[in-house]
Amino acid sequence: MGKIKGCGNESCEAHKKKITYKESEAFCSKCGSPLVYVCKDCYTQLPDYTEKYCVRCLAKHEDRKNKAKKVGGGALAVGCVILTFGKKALDVAKKIKG
Ligand SMILES: [Zn+2]
Ligand SMILES: [Zn+2]
Repeated sequence: MGKIKGCGNESCEAHKKKITYKESEAFCSKCGSPLVYVCKDCYTQLPDYTEKYCVRCLAKHEDRKNKAKKVGGGALAVGCVILTFGKKALDVAKKIKG
């Protein structure tokens, strides 16, 4: 996926409507301003356009990815623990009760 551009002119219709342009385009078709790289999510102008998203949105996306991983791995780990230690845990519970 390519990066996207947007109009950096805050008073321009394209900027207000968050209209995006292809990377190959250089100027805004509404006002003629030079296009800038913008965040795919929030249209914030990107000073460093090595990423498709601004720092904030990038963090949000990474967060979501990590959470998905954690949930999947966590459930698996819990399952293993129950399988491995389930019996022992039961014994311990009995001892505590008794
Ligand atoms: Zn414009
Ligand atoms: Zn953003």
